[in-house]
Amino acid sequence: MKRIDISAETPVARTRRVRRMYRELHELYPYAHCELDFRSPLELLVATILSAQTTDVGVNKVTPTLFARYPDAAAYAGADRAELEELLRPTGFFRAKANSLITLGQALVERFDGEVPPRMADLVTLPGVGRKTANVVLGNAFGIPGLTVDTHFGRLVRRMGWTDETDPVKVESAVGALVPRKEWTMLSHVLIFHGRRMCHAKKPACGVCPVARWCPSYGEGELDPDKARKLLKYEMSPAAVASA
Ligand code: SF4
Repeated sequence: MKRIDISAETPVARTRRVRRMYRELHELYPYAHCELDFRSPLELLVATILSAQTTDVGVNKVTPTLFARYPDAAAYAGADRAELEELLRPTGFFRAKANSLITLGQALVERFDGEVPPRMADLVTLPGVGRKTANVVLGNAFGIPGLTVDTHFGRLVRRMGWTDETDPVKVESAVGALVPRKEWTMLSHVLIFHGRRMCHAKKPACGVCPVARWCPSYGEGELDPDKARKLLKYEMSPAAVASA
């Protein structure tokens, strides 16, 4: 297969190509979802803050105990720092994270009656909360569409020729203009799933990638289907891999 040349692509053609790729990826990962465990906006906000510099799986290991010990914002606000740090130790950067959770709890109690506000403008005023974290919470805990531009998302949209932007806020607005708003949360999950499972940073599995024909980076990774299949890191059904 020849690599697609998008150097003279019109805006309309780009939008069509992007939506086509999204449809294919959505079909590949229909079950894509937020991989952090949570039962409330506060739990998701806390888990997302803890996910910095570590894996969602690692966060999910500490959160059951954490959430039981600190059930609301007031509990974080009044937490014993040493005890909280000890609980967070396995997630790395535990001192900074403990500090974030305590100041977050205080800010929620002082300014939002202990509730997580369902608005971007309010969320980004909270300590330790940037647009990425706010979009995770809005999209997954409140059902308000948001694009979560993390490292996978940024790498993939540049690789797939959706945008050249590198600044996360600019990436968010460039990609937001290409895909209907109601799809933003699912698009984020699907790209993050693809980045974690197939389009890896170091060696993408191009030889079995279902969006290869529309990808200007096709060939940067492994092209041999058998070798590419061995690079996959996920629970994809064997039938889906065979037909990919
Ligand atoms: S795996 Fe290869 S072909 Fe597929 S999106 Fe990534 S770089 Fe493109």
